[in-house]
Amino acid sequence: MNFIITLVTFILMEGATWVIHKCLMHGFMWFLHKDHHDHSALEKNDYFFVIFVIPTIALI
Ligand SMILES: [Zn+2]
Repeated sequence: MNFIITLVTFILMEGATWVIHKCLMHGFMWFLHKDHHDHSALEKNDYFFVIFVIPTIALI
């Protein structure tokens, strides 16, 4: 049962990250994400770590 829960969680999270990357980061948050694809030394994209940690901490 634990293996199934782990597998389902992995599959759902991969789907969620794909949708978040496609729809949010390449959508209205493109102004933060654009330099990530330009491979600059300092990236605005690093703000996503702050943005995504807020709901993570809230859920913990
Ligand atoms: Zn991207």
